[in-house]
Amino acid sequence: MNHEPYDTLAATYAVGALDGQERVDFERHLAAGCDVCEATLRESAEALATLARSRPPVIPPPTVKDELMRRIAATTPARRGGSRPRPLVWAVGTVVATIAAAGFTGTYVATRYEAKLGVMARESAALRARVEREEAALREQVAVYRNAADLLRDPQAQVVTLRGLGPSPEATGRVIWHPVNGGYVFVANLPAAPPGKAYEMWTIGDSAPRPAGLFQVDASGRAAHRIAPMEGGKPVKVFAVTLETEAGVQQPQGPMVLASAK
Ligand SMILES: [Zn+2]
Repeated sequence: MNHEPYDTLAATYAVGALDGQERVDFERHLAAGCDVCEATLRESAEALATLARSRPPVIPPPTVKDELMRRIAATTPARRGGSRPRPLVWAVGTVVATIAAAGFTGTYVATRYEAKLGVMARESAALRARVEREEAALREQVAVYRNAADLLRDPQAQVVTLRGLGPSPEATGRVIWHPVNGGYVFVANLPAAPPGKAYEMWTIGDSAPRPAGLFQVDASGRAAHRIAPMEGGKPVKVFAVTLETEAGVQQPQGPMVLASAK
């Protein structure tokens, strides 16, 4: 349908001078959602707000008002009962209308976009949290590889191969080991531990196996895990990985999935 009548109504409505059936019609049109009229109201409110802020306020001399009243009297036809002299309403009501229009437009726009802004805020917060988690994980990974590379530069470091056993014969592993600094185990092709379970690392010297921490593998079956050095830099004869409860155990109980050759 033709939008032109609403252009005038929007401008009139913006200064608070629309009433009667026209006001009802326009508000119904607005409630149905109209970007054009919304823009008009927003612009009008901004213009009026700018006008209200401008200094100094312009106060017309009394003669202007007298002249205005004279012209209104001369041009307004005989009124039907109950209708008001609209031009006078326009002139007198401008200051009040400025406040009313600014308030109305602000409330309308706020209500309309509040939900959208809320959704956007929640989405961006979730995204930021995810990026931070991923960044932390990447930093950790980089630190592991940097430390492992540093270890490899030390002539005392050794690389030990682990072979898959029992339930995961295709699993492979390498330990980069330094007797004083400890080292890292890198595993691949290890299936994800069942719920409630975790892989536990063991270093075995002359005495009982020593627990050396728990780890999980990623979606591709890989893991990198830090191994603390033995007390007093004692040598490790065997590195092994078993499948245990996720809380870990002090002595190996579950099946051995990786071990170094003796
Ligand atoms: Zn419209």
